[in-house]
This record gives sequence, structure tokens and C-alpha cells, in this order.
Amino acid sequence: MSEQPIIACRRLSKSYRKGGGVITPLHALDLDVRRGEFVALMGPSGSGKTTLLNLIAGIDRPTEGELVVAGADIARFSRARLADWRSVNVGYVFQLYNLVPVLTAYENVELPLLLRPLGRRERHTRVQAALSLVGIADRHDHYPRQLSGGQEQRVAIARAIVTDPAILVADEPTGDLDADSATEIMRLLTRLNQELGKTLVMVTHDAGCASYARTRLFLEKGVLVPGEGARGTARVAARVAQEVHA
Ligand code: ADP
Ligand code: MG
Repeated sequence: MSEQPIIACRRLSKSYRKGGGVITPLHALDLDVRRGEFVALMGPSGSGKTTLLNLIAGIDRPTEGELVVAGADIARFSRARLADWRSVNVGYVFQLYNLVPVLTAYENVELPLLLRPLGRRERHTRVQAALSLVGIADRHDHYPRQLSGGQEQRVAIARAIVTDPAILVADEPTGDLDADSATEIMRLLTRLNQELGKTLVMVTHDAGCASYARTRLFLEKGVLVPGEGARGTARVAARVAQEVHA
């Protein structure tokens, strides 16, 4: 018997009112992600990648369809319940790190734990463990502006995993980094997937980053399109290159 997918989307749609009309960045999407998977989500700008991540992470709610994540029917959750659920189940890594500038690395990583019923000592143990895991414990008292981009992203990843969520989502996590830092971040994310068993859904424009994932999916105008594997990657990379140079 096969295990339940940790993420199950059924005819998932998201629409926004814009001006007089309605736009639908996600359209009746079906997707299963197995526990422990590492999925790279690719596709042109505006194809709905961030919209899909936000639904999976419980940051936003679908307009229509079914969405079961980590055993919870989150499409039906209230905003408050969703926020609560998210703080336990999902870590989010952003392209621009989203660290709080007036807090140290330590305090940034501690933030998600302040929502949980934990004492200071327990928080300290967890923050130290997360900072060590991402290899940045020696910078715990640095402010974001005193860190390189790669170091900031490590702190952001520590913040995403400090609550020990089963799922990590990352939206272009290397999009603002030089090639060497990007490689380090990809190795770190791969370790979290392989050694800690985190289910990882990562949006990327970069075929090299996508190659770390076990599965590559392609979104186009809010629909998953076939074309997994090298051919699809090359096709998307070519299109992204065109967009960049246009
Ligand atoms: P991607 O991450 O693939 O570049 P997004 O998911 O961010 O694409 O956006 C898909 C489409 O949905 C875009 O046309 C975008 O303008 C629109 N969109 C996203 N979020 C909102 C919002 N909060 N309100 C209105 N339109 C939105
Ligand atoms: Mg996006």
C-alpha cells in the first residue's frame, strides 16, 4: 500500500480580482508530492509558481479545489487556524531572505519559536542547533547587514527549520546569490532533504539548481505542463534566457 502524499492538490485554483476583471494564476491544478521528495518547480515569470507555494505553505487560501498538506485539509481552515498550522508544519525560504534588520542572526532564528509554548532555555537549544546545522553558529550575534547574501540565506534557512517542520518551501532561494554561494545553499538544502528527510518544494529559474531535485515540474499559465527531465529543463532555461535578454 502506498503512503498518503504529504501534499495533495486536486483541481486547485486561485483567482484574484484585479481592476474590473478576475485573473486566475492557478487553474485546476492536480499535484501529489510524496513525503521526503525534493521537487523543483520551474516556469516563466507570472506562471503561478509563487501562488502555488503560498497555497501549499498556508500563506494564502485557494479559491477552489482540494488541498491536503501534512494530513490537514487546509483549504477549509480559517486564517487564524492556518497561521497556527503553518507555524508547526512549514518553513518558508525567500529569495531576498526576509530577515528582520534590527534583530541579530540568533534573534531572527528565534522568532518562530516565540509563537510556541517554549521556555527560554529550550528556545536557546533549538536556535543553537539550527544555526550549527546551517554552519553559521559563529555569526549568531551579527545583524543581517553584517552578513553576506549567502550567510543571510543560511540564517533564513535556520529560521525556516528551527521549528522542525516536515515541509520546506523555497521561492528562488538562490535567485540573488553569486554562483558559489548558490552552490553552497543548494548543497545545504539537499542535505536537509536527504539527511533530515524534509520534503522540499523549491521554485527556481536555474536549471543547475533544479538539477539537485529528484523531480522537476513545469508550470505554464497556471497549469502543470509535461516536459519533465532534461528536455523540459532545457526548454524552460532557454525561455528564461530569452526573457532575461529580451
Ligand atoms: P510566478 O511566481 O510564477 O512569477 P506568481 O504566482 O507570483 O507568478 O503570479 C502569477 C500571476 O498572479 C501574476 O499575473 C501575478 O500578477 C498574479 N498575482 C499574484 N499574486 C497576486 C495578488 N495578491 N493579487 C493580484 N494578482 C496577483
Ligand atoms: Mg514568483
